[in-house]
Amino acid sequence: MIVADTIARAKRQRGIETYFLTGTDEHGINIERSAQKEGRTPQEQADFVVSYFKKMTSKFGLDTEHGGYDIFMRTTEPFHYEGVSELWRRVAKAKTPKGNDAIYKGHYEGWFCAACAAYKTEDEYEKAKVEGEPPTCRVHETALDRVSEESYFFRLSDYDEALLSVFESRSEFVRPESRRNEVISFVRSGLQDLSVSRLKKSVSWGIPVPDDPAHTMYVWFDALTNYITAIGFGNKKRQQEVGFEKFWPALHLVGKDILRFHAVYWPAFLIAAGIELPRAIVAHGMWLDANGRKMSKTLRNAIELDVLHKHFSVDAVRYFCLREMVFGQDGRFSYEALIDRANSDLASGWGNLSSRTLTMIARYCDSRIPSGLIPEDKLLLAKRTGVDTDETTVAGFIEHARDQFLLHFENLAFSRSLEIVWSVIARVDKMITDAKPWDLAKDENQKQTLGVVLYRAAESLRWLSVLLHPVMPDASRAMWNQLGLGGSPAQINPADLKWGDLKEGAAIGEVQPVFPRVDKAKAMAEINAGEQPSGVHSTEAEAVAAVAANVPTTQPTPPMKQATEADTVGVARLIEIDDFAKVDLRVGQVLSAERVPKADKLLLLKIDLAEEQPRQVLAGIAQYYEPEKLVGRKVVVVANLKPRKLRGFESQGMVVAASYGEEGRPVIATFTEDVPNGARLK
Ligand SMILES: [Zn+2]
Repeated sequence: MIVADTIARAKRQRGIETYFLTGTDEHGINIERSAQKEGRTPQEQADFVVSYFKKMTSKFGLDTEHGGYDIFMRTTEPFHYEGVSELWRRVAKAKTPKGNDAIYKGHYEGWFCAACAAYKTEDEYEKAKVEGEPPTCRVHETALDRVSEESYFFRLSDYDEALLSVFESRSEFVRPESRRNEVISFVRSGLQDLSVSRLKKSVSWGIPVPDDPAHTMYVWFDALTNYITAIGFGNKKRQQEVGFEKFWPALHLVGKDILRFHAVYWPAFLIAAGIELPRAIVAHGMWLDANGRKMSKTLRNAIELDVLHKHFSVDAVRYFCLREMVFGQDGRFSYEALIDRANSDLASGWGNLSSRTLTMIARYCDSRIPSGLIPEDKLLLAKRTGVDTDETTVAGFIEHARDQFLLHFENLAFSRSLEIVWSVIARVDKMITDAKPWDLAKDENQKQTLGVVLYRAAESLRWLSVLLHPVMPDASRAMWNQLGLGGSPAQINPADLKWGDLKEGAAIGEVQPVFPRVDKAKAMAEINAGEQPSGVHSTEAEAVAAVAANVPTTQPTPPMKQATEADTVGVARLIEIDDFAKVDLRVGQVLSAERVPKADKLLLLKIDLAEEQPRQVLAGIAQYYEPEKLVGRKVVVVANLKPRKLRGFESQGMVVAASYGEEGRPVIATFTEDVPNGARLK
């Protein structure tokens, strides 16, 4: 779903009208049985499962509200019934390429796996060890059902040549290549006619066969059709709302385990009905665990979405999925690998490049984008520093990288695309390190040279935000805002990016870390223990909105999370009393409080700790506390925190606060009894 979402966002960014469909198929004996077991009706059971899926899609930002799918398609939608019935009627009227009726009534005798919703031939099931017992499904290891009843058949055996000619003339129809070969050899080995109905008395939870209500349709006939009913096939209202012709033929992304249904049965149904085939069917691999084992409930190595969501930002998960797995092949998952990627590629990579660049622009250029050009009379001077005075070098490099990125992206080679972007990040990072802006800043004559280095870095960041928008929409928007740019990277076609469009003199936004560092030991301890992180933490002055500390790793919304000192305090891991003694907590009283210009989250506080001078402390609480109301208030201050400079002000400590809720609302710690300033907390 993440891959489909990424593709949809990329298409929209390029101005292509897109319809992104995902959802659930909800009919069949398997759902009927689970419903019975749970004491629900099949519809209630389907609703129950769907509500969980929908909740998760929302948490991971994949729903309509977050710019994700256009429809969460459910095959229990009435318009779907109508469309499927229309498809059945068309197929029932059709002749096969060999001149026979495409659908005929016969008698089915064989084994059926309810969980697979598939009939099993002798080489697809495990024979029972005990005589008289039913065989078991190789996938599910559950007993198969003996079916012996009247059934409608789809004459699949007449479609082998038609299908093979599609596979041969359209080499990209089934992807990747290895899967295509599998499908071709399956078809070549000879196709059997497919039972496409069950008697209503044995499977009632399904769509009735038109004009023969004693039969319900085979669940796959109904489920596959969702791709066209969702966009208006067989239903006038849907057709007006979406438009079948506008979005069909579509691209299908499917798990490799259901490729046969999509690449053989579905095209055959469509050929019979005279409907154009999909654009392509791409099979993706599966996530295996770190040891390369299949994930399963019994091995207890499956990924729990709740855990994933609790400990990682949505963007980090998206990035990992696309970067770690070569799309089409199996990939390996471990939380450790995810943390490593989040820390090295995101926090230390893209995130660090952004914050160091913008911090220097704030410090050396008064928070305004410097000029990207070196005046003639300063060229020689600039050359002496080793800075490349020819800006087409970096422009050429990034343009080439962009073209390569788009090419691989178009071919669904996401991992390769992202590698290319990270080569840009490495290059720009090196440019900064080589140029040493902090040294250039000491020399007034090198002001323009310094500006050029920072301009190139900032302009590169603008490009990165656009390129990475489909992969990490939240982070790219955050970076974009910090660059002080208007609009959204979602609206910029990466093919239209031009080097130098970043405007000189424009004010940058507030600089904040976009990717928090994940404390690996702590996060792993929590994941392994399955513990809820504690809600108590201290707020570093810089920790704008104090969002991070009650979720020591990351959370999805808002995307701007930041690692604070609280992370290292370690609320879940046990510490020695000596560790705690390192933190000098003192009682203080707020003498004055005022807002910090151009930083709408920061308050500048003067706090009396009974020292010679009051402390100046910046606190990220401006959105929740009126400055006037803080004056006179007793607070707790971390007194031995290394001073830091923020927005041009030195912060000499931090104010302790609790943090709660999605937005990490801060609540300042205080005392209900009288206590002198400077008293130590132990
Ligand atoms: Zn099965």
